[in-house]
Formats: sequence, structure tokens, C-alpha cells
Amino acid sequence: MTDSRIPVAVLGATGNVGQRFIQLLADHPWFRVAELVASERSAGKTFRDATDWRLGARMPEGAADLPVLGYDADLQSPIAFSGLPGEVAGEIEQRLARDGHAVLSNTSTHRMDPDVPLLIPEVNPGHVAAIERQRKNRGWAGFIVTNANCSAIHLTLTLKPLHDAFGLDALFVTTMQAVSGAGYPGVPSLDMIDNVVPFIGSEEEKLETETQKMLGAWSDDCGFQPASFVLSAHCNRVPVRDGHTECVSVRLNRPATPGEVTDAFEAFRGRPQELELPSAPTHPIVVRREHNRPQPALDRDDAGGMASIVGRVRDCPLLGTKFVLLGHNTIRGAAGASVLNAELFKVDGILPL
Ligand code: NAP
Repeated sequence: MTDSRIPVAVLGATGNVGQRFIQLLADHPWFRVAELVASERSAGKTFRDATDWRLGARMPEGAADLPVLGYDADLQSPIAFSGLPGEVAGEIEQRLARDGHAVLSNTSTHRMDPDVPLLIPEVNPGHVAAIERQRKNRGWAGFIVTNANCSAIHLTLTLKPLHDAFGLDALFVTTMQAVSGAGYPGVPSLDMIDNVVPFIGSEEEKLETETQKMLGAWSDDCGFQPASFVLSAHCNRVPVRDGHTECVSVRLNRPATPGEVTDAFEAFRGRPQELELPSAPTHPIVVRREHNRPQPALDRDDAGGMASIVGRVRDCPLLGTKFVLLGHNTIRGAAGASVLNAELFKVDGILPL
């Protein structure tokens, strides 16, 4: 029987994010993994031979025997999901977009470009309109759309209903980020065991600027206008395998009780839920009411890793409201977010098919 699903390429297929793409796409109803790209170290081998598979379930059979291509390969798939390192992503992603591919990237290189959407389908689907300007500006047959930084995606998902219901004025966030967020092999084990590292290069700046871009506005006349609240971030690396935890204090324009804030989290839905996209969680924000949740070891896989899990919603003597959030960094924080973007584009007819 012929497979009518849309062929997709995964760039950086052997890495942490790449492996997550392969896993999430293994049984996808609309997309099938057809092409894999990694560095010269892996090119020419099969995916099975090139990859140290580090996810729990077995390597999907459909990908195992595919050849790994070099970055200069002439790809045929209309969609290229990218988990490339920032140092190499710019040139490769731009070439693919120029040649007519929809590039859905996890890399920071183009996130803050004035014509590149930084997209979360529940939060800012209107920012997709920037694609038209991007193609015109750059003369590209395809386009680049990016995911935000993994901590920014989960922070922004939880802030969106508060921004809409009460308005955001000021925000203070401290992250405790998993080791898998640093790629593989990432932070040396002797730096990580029995320790917290209070610095992740450029992470605080990304969290501050990307959150404001996503919660800001897009218009044809003015382009992207960042949201006007102030945000201060502290980012820490902690000895957790997967799942970023964030402690958030926020001053709302209209003060709200913990009950009102919880109601806003629970009522939140977006276009992926309306459209019932295959990767959309039923609730983009899952509220835990126990006094000691969420915890990464227990809750990161809730809703298949596609939701932000919040708990401990309470009054804050400093800014008015505080809560804790947890998000899976390689699923909704990376590969799963790109797949959801691609599902939205398919339904909206944006893919260059
Ligand atoms: P990683 O585990 O280090 O994987 C990097 C991948 O890129 C590998 O497949 C590697 O292939 C490939 N690669 C390296 N140099 C290349 C080149 N010159 N040409 C083609 N392929 C090349 O990194 P990661 O954690 O998956 O992160 C990938 C990207 O996603 C980064 O930009 C990161 O900032 C972003 N991101 C990561 C997370 C996360 O939680 N990990 C979350 C959000 C965003 P080889 O195996 O052949 O070397």
C-alpha cells in the first residue's frame, strides 16, 4: 500500500532534539520521516549505525535503515524539521528556505529576526502573517518559522491566559533546567552531580526577549511589537534529566486571586485544540493541586509532554501572584512544538506542497 503521508526531513537527526523528532513522527498520521541529515561524522551511515539512541522506547524501524545525509544534500521533502546547533543552522536553514522548503527550526539563529515568526499555535497564531513579508524580503520560495527557547515556550504558554484576562505588568522567573537541554553529551557529569550551575550562556536574554516577542503583536504596518511588561530571569542548570522547572512571580495589571488565576489556566484553549490537531494536548496547561507538584520526575510526561504543568498557585507578597511550572524541554520545548506548528500549517494550507 502506498504511503500518502507528507515526507519530512529531520536536520540534526542524531541529536537530542533530532531523536525526539524521530520518536514523535514514527506513527504520525500526516507526516512520515523520509530524509535524515547530520554532520559529516554521521553522513553515509544508516541512522541505526550513526546514532546512539538515548530515548526509552526502541529506535523506530522506519528510521533505522534510512541513510544519514550530509548538510549539503539536495533534500526532496517539503518540510525540514531542524534540530541543528546554532553554529551551523543559519546557512543550512536559509538555503533550504530559499529552495522552497518549510523550515521549522529549534535553533536560536533566526528567532528574533524581524520577519520570522516565533510561533506557539495556542499563543500567537496571527504571527504566521510575517511569513509573507519574509518570502518577499528575501526572495525565498519557502520560509523559516522558529520555536522559542525551551523555557520561553512553557513560560509563554502559562502567561498567555493571564495576559489576556488580567494584563501583565512585571514578572520575575527563576528556572531549574534539565541537563538534556544542553544537547549531548552536554554538561560534564562532574560539573553536574551534587551541584547547581547558576549560568546558562545567553539563556536569560533569550527568555526575556522571546517571551515579549511572542506575547507582543504583529501588524503589516509595524511588524513585530514586543509586549510591554518587564521580565527578569535567572537561569540555572540542575541535575535533572528531562523537564525544566520555573518559579514565577508576576504582577498583573488587574490583581487576581489564586482561584481566578487557576480558573484562567484551566479554561485556556487555542487553535490546536479547536482544530483537534494530532499533537495538541486537550489542555495546554494542566493544573496540579497537590502542595508538592509539579515535579520533573513525576509529571514531565503528563499530556505526552505537550502541556505545561502548573501548581502551587498562590499570593506573592512581592508581586501579587506566584506559581511553579514544569515543561518537557525536548517535547513541547522543542520537537513536539515544531510538529504542532507543521500540523497547523497543513490545516491552514501554508505548506509548500
Ligand atoms: P545535540 O544533541 O548536540 O545534536 C546536534 C545535532 O546536530 C546532531 O545530530 C549533530 O550530528 C548535528 N550536527 C552538528 N554539526 C552539524 C553540521 N555541521 N552539519 C549538520 N549537522 C550537524 O543538540 P540538541 O540538544 O539536539 O539541540 C539542537 C538544537 O536545538 C540546538 O540549536 C539547541 O539550542 C536547540 N534546542 C535544544 C533543546 C533541548 O532541550 N535539547 C530545546 C530547544 C532547542 P552528529 O551526531 O553527526 O554530530
